[in-house]
Amino acid sequence: MKTIGLIGGMSWESSIEYYRIINEITKSKLGGLHSAKSVMYSVDFAEIEAFQHQGQWQEAADLMVSAAQGLERAGADFVVLCTNTMHKLADEIEANIQVPFLHIADATAEKIHSCGMQKIGLLGTRFTMEQDFYRGRLVNKHGLEVLVPNENEREFVHQVIYKELCLGIINPESRHQYIEIINRLVKSGAEGIILGCTEIELLIQTGDAAVEVFPTTRIHAEAAVNRAIAV
Ligand code: GLU
Repeated sequence: MKTIGLIGGMSWESSIEYYRIINEITKSKLGGLHSAKSVMYSVDFAEIEAFQHQGQWQEAADLMVSAAQGLERAGADFVVLCTNTMHKLADEIEANIQVPFLHIADATAEKIHSCGMQKIGLLGTRFTMEQDFYRGRLVNKHGLEVLVPNENEREFVHQVIYKELCLGIINPESRHQYIEIINRLVKSGAEGIILGCTEIELLIQTGDAAVEVFPTTRIHAEAAVNRAIAV
């Protein structure tokens, strides 16, 4: 079994989900007392959030690279970055480590293709919904058509992530608003919805939407286990 290297803490509310899901899937695949070999480097999210919103991406990249290198030194066979947003820095991380990097958007796109879908709605932070590192990758590398909420809705989705979900607050009124936003994306033609922020699946589950949802924490965690136990 390979050792999974996790860059966590963004936020820790979703990192514990990664840890739980990775071990649950490992147990269900291997049985008995099996659990996943893993190392986590967990950051202080307050520092990261400040870098993000002040546009200090070089500082954030330095921190991510040093976390990934720490995992490598600790014996990780590949690196999993437990947040969609910080994949903005995936190229910098990949260029500075020797072991493979398991990209969250690639794992998600693979899952979407396996369901035969083409037109997909995307919820996440404003960075994820608006910038090329994520949305562009889905379009250009994976040939998907990506729909995002309108400006006001994007701001709402973003604020709920930082002011509620990353603080462990699950607000039924926000769930209701998210479902309304999802319904509008479905009306515009979305065949499925990417929960493209690792905390959104704490708020929205399969069955809350009229179409299939793609929970990126679960999908990424499952891809990590598949890689770890592949022979
Ligand atoms: N965990 C979130 C994501 O998947 C947001 C927190 C962050 O900015 O990293 O994008």
